[in-house]
Amino acid sequence: MRENNQLVINGTSIAPGETKTILVGMPKMYDWTPMHMPIHVVRGKEDGPILGVTATVHGDELNGVEIVRRLLKKTFLKKIKGTLIAVPIVNVYGFLYQDRYLMDRRDLNRCFPGSEKGSLASRLAYLVMNEIVENSTHLIDLHTGSLHRSNLPQIRANIESPEVKEMATNFAAPIILQSKERDGSMRQSASEKGKPLLLYEAGEALRFDEMSIRMGVKGIVNVMRGLGMTTAATSSKDEQYQPPIAHSSYWVRAPSSGIMRIHRSLGKSVKKGQVLAVLTNPISRQEDKVIAKEAGIVIGKSNLPLAHEGAALFHIACFDELKEVETDIKDLHYSFEVEEEHFSKIISNDELLGG
Ligand SMILES: [Zn+2]
Repeated sequence: MRENNQLVINGTSIAPGETKTILVGMPKMYDWTPMHMPIHVVRGKEDGPILGVTATVHGDELNGVEIVRRLLKKTFLKKIKGTLIAVPIVNVYGFLYQDRYLMDRRDLNRCFPGSEKGSLASRLAYLVMNEIVENSTHLIDLHTGSLHRSNLPQIRANIESPEVKEMATNFAAPIILQSKERDGSMRQSASEKGKPLLLYEAGEALRFDEMSIRMGVKGIVNVMRGLGMTTAATSSKDEQYQPPIAHSSYWVRAPSSGIMRIHRSLGKSVKKGQVLAVLTNPISRQEDKVIAKEAGIVIGKSNLPLAHEGAALFHIACFDELKEVETDIKDLHYSFEVEEEHFSKIISNDELLGG
């Protein structure tokens, strides 16, 4: 709640220029192990936008935990205009069980805005709405693909809102996927409150993916710069990158059950009718082709070579102008890889020096 320039989260007030970590008490486990949700607040001396960054709404989606950790280490945060509210683990229960859901099998991201007296998931959603969403002016929610599925780093947002579109463009992920809000999602509830929210989807559940993490950290800094919260410089290459916008997407499903050989990877373009994978079986020599219905870019795929008929295998994004998109994505990846090499050299040198 913000009154008279006061920022109060879960009863703790944060004054201009202060940095605080608030441990919000959550319902205990049934053996009475205490649970809490950590909320980091960095408030600049000068007033400005309040950016809420949430991760691990789905308990097994880990890239966001590392993105938030690296973000909080950035030295420019000492001089920001406005406030950063960062939550590395929202679904603390799912995180503990390494599971997407809560113990009652509810999906937290279908329980928003939640209620004070509802199910555990509903109570958690209610808390996030009241303490994070209400206190923020802008939001970024960090996700990954589900179990055994990888996503090309992408922003999902309803870019019909000019404010959302500007944030999405500034983030500069490889692509933007236009998508309407889903019922019960944090994005829908935030949007109903008039708060622009970007969903960043990158990598796979229960895994750290370095590229997804680096793109995520940089994307958030880019958004903060776009909002006027910082003047922290990033490389000129980012500023040039204009993420292509996909206006629709579709899933390619397994035409039959079987064991799959994948022929197309993330970020690659596909033509209409192209073979993306082949399904075989241990009994006969039959081979069933998995075929793209429309041209596009592979933005999500199954990593498991086993599929039942109907399983979602590839997520394809469709673009009006597909021509340059594959090259753009490749170039962007390359620029991050070069930086990563540089970064690992710095780390190993530091380690050698005991730093
Ligand atoms: Zn998710």
